[in-house]
Amino acid sequence: MTDTPKHRIDLDESEMPTTWYNVIPDLPEPPPPPLHPGTREPVGPDDLAPLFPMALIEQEVSAERHIDIPGEVLDVYRVWRPSPLFRATRLEEALGTPARIYYKYEGVSPAGSHKPNTSVPQAFYNHAEGVTRLTTETGAGQWGSALAYATAQYGMDCEVWMVGASYRQKPYRRTMMQIWGATVHSSPSDVTEFGRQLLADDPDHTGSLGIAISEAVAACVADPNARYALGSVLNHVLLHQTVIGEEALLQLAKVGETPDVLVGCTGGGSNFGGLAFPFLREKLAGKMDPVIRCVEPAACPTLTKGEYRYDFGDTAGMTPLMKMHTLGHGFVPEPIHAGGLRYHGMSPLVSHIYELGLAEAVAIPQRECFSGAVQFARTEGIVPAPEPTHAIAAAVREALACKESGEEKVILTALCGHGHLDLAAYEKYLSGEMVDYDLPQESIDAAMAEVPVLN
Ligand SMILES: *Cc1c(COP(=O)(O)O)cnc(C)c1O
Repeated sequence: MTDTPKHRIDLDESEMPTTWYNVIPDLPEPPPPPLHPGTREPVGPDDLAPLFPMALIEQEVSAERHIDIPGEVLDVYRVWRPSPLFRATRLEEALGTPARIYYKYEGVSPAGSHKPNTSVPQAFYNHAEGVTRLTTETGAGQWGSALAYATAQYGMDCEVWMVGASYRQKPYRRTMMQIWGATVHSSPSDVTEFGRQLLADDPDHTGSLGIAISEAVAACVADPNARYALGSVLNHVLLHQTVIGEEALLQLAKVGETPDVLVGCTGGGSNFGGLAFPFLREKLAGKMDPVIRCVEPAACPTLTKGEYRYDFGDTAGMTPLMKMHTLGHGFVPEPIHAGGLRYHGMSPLVSHIYELGLAEAVAIPQRECFSGAVQFARTEGIVPAPEPTHAIAAAVREALACKESGEEKVILTALCGHGHLDLAAYEKYLSGEMVDYDLPQESIDAAMAEVPVLN
């Protein structure tokens, strides 16, 4: 026997969690409800029925602490779950830190990210209720490919509006979606009225996530057999992602560890919530006391610079109004490489937890993120997706602070995807062409001026 620390901590299939965790009943107060875009009254199940199947609407508003994962979903999860937890021993050594860094690796899924944790149950529940076609939007293609994979499992049609700039610059995830049988449109597209209007004004429009959402929602409501699927932000999405944190809790327990600091990258908040909420439950129960920290790009600082107020989830103003941290639904972030973090809003649940003081947030510029990611790849081997480079940079900051103070903190993060289809971003970093964007307050103010004023 040696006392060499274990690098990889696995769970047996039999130890896989069989329930998702709903954090809402454990919070000191519930998050404010979404409002109807027209009446501005709280939305009811009937308002959401054209968009989502009833099972997901129920999960969206559920007061149950634990929700059973259907056997059919567990069967698909088993293709890649339980996912491994690694201790970053080689990175620790390179940093010379007394901290112990653990990362939960979600890049082992077929789509290469955490997103199939929710695309699979979403496709399952829609299929069970007779839906034959799902519409959605995607930025760089991670969500679109996850949904294309999931719909292929249940023999459903999948139609994806992909942000135009990515459609042109990042063809490989588009190809993945097509391999799994999806139809992919460049957004703005000529297949929706809103898209045609935008193209009439600017035929070279590069699109945005908010525009693509508007198009996918419009296509959904025009077809009674279609429903819409969202890859982040909503309560049921974060619920499904809690398999990440539940597994990580069990894995850390196997090596007798509890985290002192938990860091996660936040775009819409789903991988962060998925990792953090089970640990937040333990914290609220007094069993551990980790600092929980959201990490966002300096170019899209939704939590650290956005306002907490009701705003639309999309650009056209078709979705319910959600109380969330927002930079304004018309905000178009600079083209940073972490496409999955370029969203004007933040999950209402993560925003609420942040407002309650149960989580903190930090914004980091992209060159520091890629510097951390390259050091991570050279030591740990895995090439991170551009989004989790933010979490890695925050973990590195924390580990270096421990080196200064001599504290042996346990740091936990989610490496929520690999970067094999994002090598162009690394090329920019390695060649020195990557730039950091400063977000002027004027651009935030301009977009915030369009946000509805509610009493
Ligand atoms: C989509 C995506 C994100 C951003 O979404 P969250 O809901 O904030 O998790 C982050 N990382 C990866 C790898 C993604 O695919």
